[in-house]
Amino acid sequence: MHGMTKTTRTYLLSISTALAVVMSFASFQFVFVVSDFSLKMLIVPIALGCVLGLLIGKVQTLRMELAERNRLFSALSDFAVEFSYFRKVSGEYEYASPACMQLTGYSQEDFYRQPNFMDTLIYPDDRGLWQGHVHNINGVGAPEKLQLRITTKQGQIRWIEHLCSTVQDDEGKTIGVRSINLDITERKKAELELFLAAKVFESPNPMLITDSNSVIIRCNHAFCNSTGYSESELLGQTPAILHSGRHNDEFYHEIWEVIARTGEWQGEVWERRKSGEIYPKWLMISAIKGDDGGVANYLSTHFDITERKKAEQKIEDLAFFDQLTGLPNRTLLLDRLKQAMIVSARNGNYCALLLIDLDNFKTLNDTLGHDFGDMLLKQVADRLRDCVRADDTVARLGGDEFVVILNALSSIESEAGVQTEVVGEKIISMLNQTYQLKDAMHRSTPSIGATLFMNHKSNIDDLLKQADLAMYRSKEAGRNTLRFFDPEMESVVMKRAAMEAELREAINKQQLLLHFQAQVQGGHVLGAEVLVRWQHLQKGLVPPAEFIPLAEETGLILPLGRWVLEAACAQLSLWAKRAETEHLTISVNVSSRQFMAVDFVDRVFEILEATKAKPQRLKLELTESLLVSNVEEVIEKMFILKAKGVAFSLDDFGTGYSSLTYLKRLPLDQLKIDQSFVREILSNPHDASIAKTIISLAHNLRMGVIAEGVETNEQRDFLMTLGCHAYQGYLFGRPVPLKEFESSL
Ligand code: C2E
Ligand code: MG
Ligand code: MG
Repeated sequence: MHGMTKTTRTYLLSISTALAVVMSFASFQFVFVVSDFSLKMLIVPIALGCVLGLLIGKVQTLRMELAERNRLFSALSDFAVEFSYFRKVSGEYEYASPACMQLTGYSQEDFYRQPNFMDTLIYPDDRGLWQGHVHNINGVGAPEKLQLRITTKQGQIRWIEHLCSTVQDDEGKTIGVRSINLDITERKKAELELFLAAKVFESPNPMLITDSNSVIIRCNHAFCNSTGYSESELLGQTPAILHSGRHNDEFYHEIWEVIARTGEWQGEVWERRKSGEIYPKWLMISAIKGDDGGVANYLSTHFDITERKKAEQKIEDLAFFDQLTGLPNRTLLLDRLKQAMIVSARNGNYCALLLIDLDNFKTLNDTLGHDFGDMLLKQVADRLRDCVRADDTVARLGGDEFVVILNALSSIESEAGVQTEVVGEKIISMLNQTYQLKDAMHRSTPSIGATLFMNHKSNIDDLLKQADLAMYRSKEAGRNTLRFFDPEMESVVMKRAAMEAELREAINKQQLLLHFQAQVQGGHVLGAEVLVRWQHLQKGLVPPAEFIPLAEETGLILPLGRWVLEAACAQLSLWAKRAETEHLTISVNVSSRQFMAVDFVDRVFEILEATKAKPQRLKLELTESLLVSNVEEVIEKMFILKAKGVAFSLDDFGTGYSSLTYLKRLPLDQLKIDQSFVREILSNPHDASIAKTIISLAHNLRMGVIAEGVETNEQRDFLMTLGCHAYQGYLFGRPVPLKEFESSL
């Protein structure tokens, strides 16, 4: 009975020996009593018997008590999950609870068999700690509690919490040590994990934890540092607070779709710091599952890659950009040229390659030095950039040679040539302006060679050679000019340039005149559309189709359009003075470029003011091409003019692109059915149905409708049956000079 002390056991043993002696004596006395019958002789044994009986009773009680205590002790100790033991001073185990098996893998017998068995279980790294503890408890005897590791019989390492204190006998002498040992392996593991998680979370990488609804519930210091937000500003928000606006909803939708499918996502995103700065980051998001298997949280790590991006950009800059001017270098130019070829082959548009060489650049370098040369090159680069559209390319080949690629020109070669010439002229005029080089004023001129290309079959080297040849021809021609590689293109462009100069002169010298074409309704002339003509000295009367496009391209449409408006308004004010013409309106064609000029509205008001024409008699004919530009601006301008009384008609309706939504928003008074639908309105059912649609559209939008190009009574009658009652066309009168128009009234 390992649970009892030795004293108890010695006590029990002596009592049982005494009992045996007394019992044998009693039986002997009984024989004696029976044979003697002497009462006197009976007294001694009776007394002895009583004492014996008492003794036996006492022993019995003690035994029962002891058994009861043992039972109680076992009930408590044997079934406790903690492993408890009592070790004597000698090291022998007086008691080891059955839980030793659970904790150490060793049986109670293993403990009873070997003194200080516990010592052998201590994990090597913790032996020092254990020795110290054993030394302490043996010496000082004060209770101790420590956490250490043991190696189980199966070789596992387990964390235990070891509590122990010494036990003294009645005299106060230490007789052993009692101990309770708890398995705290799981707790230690959890603690370690928490510790590690906290360490990881406090890493220098910004981290964020949200709940399953993406509401931020934790963020680390690094995150606050990197975003500029404090923790309190972030908690309760969603990561949308960081959105930069650079990604659309679809982008975020895709991220969440991937996370839902795979549990994680990583990639590059642009986000916004509190300061407003937008920066790139590498974002990693993982879904963290809860005990129920559903997503409980999202953990995201945000690596700021601003520096990396800068470095990448730097490398790219070095490889693809000219260090002096920042323009693409030869390598990038060749790549862009290849791209331009592919795109032009696909779209069927021409592109142009312009080679620009600065005249006498060497002289500047030699006289003023390279510093000045570099300054000039930088300014030239800036000016070139300003001459082209964003999707065109300006590159520096090296030295004083620059290259420009013009993309998406016309699909008609001659038109593309003209467009190229326009840009070339712009470049020449820009580069001709004086340069400020430190204190010195400098003048420089370019010689430009140009060549057109369309498909990807053209060879890049050939193209550069062609532009080079053309550039030398422009040097030969006296510099500061542009030459085409193709001589035919050259003549087209030359003719056009001559015509531009002539037209400019015609506008200045008042060689333009207006013809008036009647607009009628119900047999009455409502007014006239004015159509411009060019009274050319050699060619005679030139129709607008031959010079309006040129005027639009060159910007001459602005002075031209202004002259037409002035002439029309002056006429209106003259008509206003006579009763028979007072009611007449004048329709003026306004091209998109003219309408979009910043001062268009002011110009109209100025002219109305100057001529004293009634705005109510003026109608502006706009075309659908206006609606592909900034519609909001168009609408705003129209409303301002409309408020003054000016009317609007949409010319050539049906030939361009008109969105119904826009149409509804424009303050239009009239739709003008294009003459191309009227021409075959009787024979072509398709044209007839378009005309019909336009008429009902006008009715629905509460606008008027007029048909142009009406040449026969049949056409007029048909239009009338469709509901169109206003007409313009040869049937009612050709465009004629004012005198003729007035006498026809
Ligand atoms: P538009 O505004 O559509 O003018 C109608 C054109 O149709 C005029 O040609 C007119 O002469 C012609 N036309 C009129 N009735 C008939 C007909 O019954 N049959 C046929 N076949 N043709 C008819 P025009 O005068 O040659 O003008 C051509 C275009 O030039 C105009 O088309 C307009 O877009 C533009 N234009 C004319 N004058 C000006 C102007 O002052 N400024 C601007 N920006 N453009 C103008
Ligand atoms: Mg018109
Ligand atoms: Mg028209």
